[in-house]
Amino acid sequence: MGDKGNPSPRLGEKLAVPKRILLGPGPSQVDPQVLEAMACPLVGHLDPFFLQLMDEIQESLRYVFQTRNPLTLPVSGTGTAAMETAVVNMVEPGDRILVCVNGYFGSRIAQMAVRHGGDVRTLERRWGEVFTPEEIQEAVQAFSPKVVAIVQAETSTGALQPIEDIPPIVHAAGGILIVDAVTSLGGVPVRVDEWDLDVCYSGTQKCLGCPPGLGPITFGPRAEQVLRQRKVPVSSFYFDVSLLPKYWGEERLYHHTAPITANYALREGLRIVVEEGLENRWRRHRRNAERLWDGLEALGLQCHVEKPNRLPTLTTVVVPPGVDELQVRRRLLEEYAIEIAGGLGELKGKVWRIGLMGYSSSEENVDLLLEALKKLLK
Ligand SMILES: *Cc1c(COP(=O)(O)O)cnc(C)c1O
Repeated sequence: MGDKGNPSPRLGEKLAVPKRILLGPGPSQVDPQVLEAMACPLVGHLDPFFLQLMDEIQESLRYVFQTRNPLTLPVSGTGTAAMETAVVNMVEPGDRILVCVNGYFGSRIAQMAVRHGGDVRTLERRWGEVFTPEEIQEAVQAFSPKVVAIVQAETSTGALQPIEDIPPIVHAAGGILIVDAVTSLGGVPVRVDEWDLDVCYSGTQKCLGCPPGLGPITFGPRAEQVLRQRKVPVSSFYFDVSLLPKYWGEERLYHHTAPITANYALREGLRIVVEEGLENRWRRHRRNAERLWDGLEALGLQCHVEKPNRLPTLTTVVVPPGVDELQVRRRLLEEYAIEIAGGLGELKGKVWRIGLMGYSSSEENVDLLLEALKKLLK
């Protein structure tokens, strides 16, 4: 009908997706109960049922973030959208921001801050290392930033940054701290109130066991103060957190159409987190990571990050000399339906990245992967 020369695309059969075991840096596997929730019919984004669901999501997000912050909500978009929300709301043109860069995602925050007009300075470390409070203190004293940003779980390197000692340093100098918890929230301890974090954000497809699509974020009292004291409006309409609470709060004012299905998924994913219990979930992630690390060692493989700084949710493994890393990944996928990832940036070609996040973090998956690696590396 009516197509003047455009051949109609031939999609053939109905969509059929291959089964995969997702052990890469995200997306992780999704709990079948979450998939079921996503198949529910749509309601309107102002339907009383949906408004109630939004309240439930906010309440459960406060639990996973361990915070009482009123301004806690899922940004419509992936983890990067939450990152951009943090940066664009906290940084005005000309504001000083210190970004700690020891991997790909720290560098992404710095690039974003530049685009939003920030006066950006970076503190750098080799990929796989973490920052000491002393060097952060020194950099804060030298630069007096309004904002400091740091990644808790560097998915590109497999390093876990200790956070607790950093907020007092930043606050003593009158600054606020943004923490990227994309690969830590729901997998390793994140305690927003106890640690006194000002802005903390995440994504749904890593340790929360949901598909990609939402970026949970929370703003503490100091961050709210920064919002109130802004001199120029946030340059992004979509990510302006002075507008978002009008929809997520009492007023229920239309801002953009919430991705209904993604919110169903998050609600169900959070229900599962609550059911398991956060502490149990952290313990499960650590237990399965240790099982993986022991198994890798038994195969003669070496982890890129030293044990005390190793991230339970993502492990970087050094590719042994003489092994074609891409070939191993290809065979894992083709012969075992297991996805792992290669290195990024500085670590490209040098490591494999193995994620054990959310629903993917199970003894069974660890054993399947170790067994497959054993055969492939023989
Ligand atoms: C995955 C990730 C992001 C970006 O999230 P997307 O969902 O890919 O947009 C940001 N920070 C870290 C540490 C991540 O692992």
